[in-house]
Amino acid sequence: DKKEQAKAEDASKTKLGVTTAKEDNYSAWYTEVITKAEMIEYYDVSGCYVLRPWSYAIWESIQSFFDSGIKKLGVKNCYFPMFVSNAALEREKAHIADFAPEVAWVTRAGDSEMAEPIAIRPTSETVMYPSFAKWIQSHRDLPIKINQWCNVVRWEFKHPTPFLRTREFLWQEGHTAYHLAADAEKEVFAILDLYAAVYTDLLAIPVVKGRKSEKEKFAGGDFTTTVEAYVPCNGRGIQGATSHHLGQNFSKMFDISYEDPEKPGQKALAWQNSWGMSTRTIGAVVMIHGDNKGLVLPPRVASIQVIVVAVGITANTKPEDKTALLAKTEEIAATLVAAGIRAETDLRDNVSPGWKFNHWELKGVPVRLEVGPKDIAKNQALAVIRHSGEKRPLGLDGLSGTTEALLNEIHNAMYEKVEKLRDSHKIVLTDWAKFVPALDEKNVLLSPFCGEPACEDQIKTDSTRTQPEDAAGVAAMGAKTLCIPLEQPKEPLPEKCIHPKCGKAAKFFALFGRSY
Ligand code: AMP
Repeated sequence: DKKEQAKAEDASKTKLGVTTAKEDNYSAWYTEVITKAEMIEYYDVSGCYVLRPWSYAIWESIQSFFDSGIKKLGVKNCYFPMFVSNAALEREKAHIADFAPEVAWVTRAGDSEMAEPIAIRPTSETVMYPSFAKWIQSHRDLPIKINQWCNVVRWEFKHPTPFLRTREFLWQEGHTAYHLAADAEKEVFAILDLYAAVYTDLLAIPVVKGRKSEKEKFAGGDFTTTVEAYVPCNGRGIQGATSHHLGQNFSKMFDISYEDPEKPGQKALAWQNSWGMSTRTIGAVVMIHGDNKGLVLPPRVASIQVIVVAVGITANTKPEDKTALLAKTEEIAATLVAAGIRAETDLRDNVSPGWKFNHWELKGVPVRLEVGPKDIAKNQALAVIRHSGEKRPLGLDGLSGTTEALLNEIHNAMYEKVEKLRDSHKIVLTDWAKFVPALDEKNVLLSPFCGEPACEDQIKTDSTRTQPEDAAGVAAMGAKTLCIPLEQPKEPLPEKCIHPKCGKAAKFFALFGRSY
């Protein structure tokens, strides 16, 4: 309906819609989207935010997908306290050295100072492993595979951003212990695959699987694996989730030991893993899929997948025709719901259809189904696809099947759109002179690397721009390794590390980028 379209366009110019373009001012755009789409409410403690139902529903979808995945691997859920004693926290030295600056402490109860301040978990290795030590008396007590869905607190001083970097965040943390190193290592990669599936199969976001460099790995662990996503509009990388092999570092410190079944009389130490994924996932969805009309939700995590709106009712419409149209609208939604599609109607009569179009577009609902008198006459409804703007009439016969296929088609198209952008900005680069210009062109770079922390520091320093972050959010920060991709480029690995002053042999291609 042309009139309604014009009204909708007008409404988008008013305060209701997103007023900042993503390409003009990235962080203002992000703030507008998450507040106007009713995902976030701001809060008076810096770095902490209210997750409103519209964003919390995404987390619930992610939880349900990942939870059923880990249960198939034999992991069971549990809950440990959020407080940790100083003695436990300090047990693993490398670990506490890394986390200490961000640990929040409870020092007072009411009016009295606590004799022993108590820390709030930044992660739960040191909370859980004293229990592991008690539970594991024999190799028959292994493996232990537990997970908890909880909050953690990291009092970070980097600029906080809702979802992406917050002081309190929600996550799951899995903690496992094995008799054999090989079994533990196998699990690290099984979990990594599950994290990749959260991104690709649920959030329609491509990721690169890899290992973290020595500099970037989890403190106290043997090695860290990660899934890394790419943010097209500013060319930054974002760490999606991490799966760590802790080796025997924690089992040594917490004495998680038992008699070695292969060497009677000798003590064996458990091999351990920990792995975590947080509400940062939601921020990745906003940044990667969102556009100048607002949020764009991938269908599999959208709490409303289809919004059904009655259109074409005018002052001249006969009351009985209006009643019939509204009944048809509800019938269509009910049919979709019965088929397992998350559909709702918007039958408010205090706002115009154009206002509704804008509202649901801002909130990122994947499909709007417009039902008007002319559509009904043709036994069809008009689907409007959020991510592409495409309009497509759908026959009412077999509507559930077509809609389900459409939602899958949308998922795939959203994935491919991002993948195409990502692939054209993920380039093999072996010439240091081109390193910073390529970063400025919003690329992430596959470059030969020696793997040394000191060299990574140097690369970061030498790739830092002196100009501040530009409006589109292209950062001034230096590059770090996002990961060492498990799947290495086909190109032959050059002999030397990318940094001209390094001179050491290249061990692998690392993926470098400016990062969140
Ligand atoms: P880590 O324990 O540091 O390996 O973190 C596990 C996961 O939590 C990471 O992969 C991040 O995606 C996420 N994460 C870490 N710090 C934050 C934060 N401040 N806010 C939100 N998510 C975070």
